[in-house]
Amino acid sequence: MNVKLNIPGYSIRVPGLMVLCLVTLLLTTACADGESTPATSADQPDAIVLTGVNVLTMKDDSILEGKTVVIRGDRIESIRPDEEAEIPEDAMQVDSEGKYLMPGLAEMHGHIPGPDDSQYAKDVLFLYISNGVTTVRNMAGHPYHLELSEQVMNGEIPGPVIYAASPWLSPDTIPDTDAVEGVVQGYLDEGFDLMKMGSLSLETYRKLAEVAHEEGLPFAGHIPEEVGLRVALDERQASIDHLDRYVEFLAEENPDAENISPGFFGSAIIDYVEEERLDEAIELTIEAGTWNVPTLSLVEHLESTETPEEMAQWPEMQYMPRSVIEGWISSKHDFQARDDFQPEAARKLVELRQKITKELHDRGALIVLGSDAPQFFNVPGFSIHHEMEMMVATGLSPYEVLVTGTKNAGIYFDEEDEFGMIEEGLRADLILLNSNPFEDIANVKNRAGVIVRGEWWPEDKIQDKLGELARE
Ligand SMILES: [Zn+2]
Repeated sequence: MNVKLNIPGYSIRVPGLMVLCLVTLLLTTACADGESTPATSADQPDAIVLTGVNVLTMKDDSILEGKTVVIRGDRIESIRPDEEAEIPEDAMQVDSEGKYLMPGLAEMHGHIPGPDDSQYAKDVLFLYISNGVTTVRNMAGHPYHLELSEQVMNGEIPGPVIYAASPWLSPDTIPDTDAVEGVVQGYLDEGFDLMKMGSLSLETYRKLAEVAHEEGLPFAGHIPEEVGLRVALDERQASIDHLDRYVEFLAEENPDAENISPGFFGSAIIDYVEEERLDEAIELTIEAGTWNVPTLSLVEHLESTETPEEMAQWPEMQYMPRSVIEGWISSKHDFQARDDFQPEAARKLVELRQKITKELHDRGALIVLGSDAPQFFNVPGFSIHHEMEMMVATGLSPYEVLVTGTKNAGIYFDEEDEFGMIEEGLRADLILLNSNPFEDIANVKNRAGVIVRGEWWPEDKIQDKLGELARE
């Protein structure tokens, strides 16, 4: 299935599933007129203290009321009841009385632009943290991201902690099984944290899985068409993103679906889905220990009846380069003009994806939060809030959705003693909210500020910097 993408300066035909993760690689156009902001660590005090704050540890759904939290350097130093707490003399006090403190969010399917426009890449990093996203698993890899990651961690530029995926694995990078070991070793040496699965033959995929497990470099992302859900789970792919190949699995035993190309995420075979097969798909997923990153907003944005011109009016669009927005508008028009685009099938696909997400969650399969920004109207940082609303719409509670974006991300990376919860000793990646997000997921946007590895970004400072990035 080929999709023609019209992005200013580019017109390409690629397999439908590849489109999503290729777009970002192409979108390296200039971003607005934002000036870079130097790292601000220098004007930060050694310690920050929050008093009278309600702490959402995310270890469970309880709220610890009336706490004093001391942050020193990039760590949570102490969490005490107000009446027992000692306030360090050197600490900067943040107005936190009656507010809600939660861990920073993780965008587990994000994209950071490439090196062609480093200012745009840096602006995207700021968009993430401005929205409380303090960790990004970057799913379109380039060695440049390793450089950026170092600059972020050195405090040279503001940004989230980056886990960097390798470039997209495809027959271009791995032409045959003989090439597998060299490629995996190369990515390992370069310092990538994982490999981005794209399109490989079944044979190459199997070999890659073998070497990846031997070398301890996980692979995650798409499932190649030839591979399918069962093999990907059998080979313990670390994460399946976009719920890739679930619909195909649900239709694969229906003889009527034979010889029909699945179309975009299975939309062409939606009428042949046998929902009773979902049980097996979920059981296999749980057995494999494979994570899912549903990225509901990606498909919902493409399939929705809202016109792309209307979507381009969303407030956050002012922070994206106009050329990117124009690319999104024409992509949606092109997509909906395709012969195989049926609004009715699209609606069913969205509903089925909601159901798969909810069932995976309720049965105990592993889920992390991801929106696939900046793809198709997903503005980095802002899109995680749309995604959380869509996750709530599947039937999950706000708390359950927040688990996928906080604690589960720490567990995914086997770093739950580093981030994802609020606990003494953990990294101080935090969001301070004016209202309780367990009551309404929209309250995660009602921020008083964000703490990024111990650095306090009050909301007015965030808004000032966003103002610099905004287009006319
Ligand atoms: Zn992607």
